Amino acid sequence: MTTRHPKLIFEAPSAPVVPIVGTDQFFPVNRIFCVGRNYAAHAKEMGMAVDREEPFYFTKSASCIVPSGSTVPYPPGTSNYHHEMELVVAIGHSAFRVSIEAAPKAIYGYACGLDMTRRDLQFKARDKGRPWDLGKNFEDSAVISAIVDAGKSGHIESGDIRLSVNDDVRQVGNINDLIWSVPELIADLSKYYHLQPGDLIYTGTPAGVGAVEPGDHLVGSIEKVGDITLSIGAKE
Ligand code: MN
Repeated sequence: MTTRHPKLIFEAPSAPVVPIVGTDQFFPVNRIFCVGRNYAAHAKEMGMAVDREEPFYFTKSASCIVPSGSTVPYPPGTSNYHHEMELVVAIGHSAFRVSIEAAPKAIYGYACGLDMTRRDLQFKARDKGRPWDLGKNFEDSAVISAIVDAGKSGHIESGDIRLSVNDDVRQVGNINDLIWSVPELIADLSKYYHLQPGDLIYTGTPAGVGAVEPGDHLVGSIEKVGDITLSIGAKE
């Protein structure tokens, strides 16, 4: 945590916060880790092989957070703006070099997330061996529902995950189809980072990703976690 500096040349942005289900409390967001290709059917639709060698990650800035229920502008620089419905893990306790068995202790709770993606820019970067930032880390690209306390939901190891666009079902999967389970992801990330309270992990999307257009309304859900909605506004 930082203390307020007396000589800031402008006001420092404050951490985005996420409401906690059934309380008047909020979860302040620190870092956002995202997992690539973590469902076999999605890896295949991206034209990639399933890989159990090691998981891979990209990150989004905390400032990308936007709450469920929002209307976001269709973002600049893309003509192929995609939805990715995901289980989000909210870290509540520090974790560094933790075992798979100990990893669940780091979890505060779970949320529904949308890893919104400028697919054309992601593919252009991917195919040139460049970083994915323009495709992934942009304003309003990390949509999140309220967080449910794991003490209330239990740990989420299985359950239906789905997304509809304008009442048309686009994505359906099950959390038990994750190539890398939540404890495996936490254990692996903790080899490289000191995971801290406030960190979020977007755990990857099932098959069925696709484009959205201005005026579209997205509704997603994860069994035992909750619902998420997003409306797509006009092109900027
Ligand atoms: Mn994703």
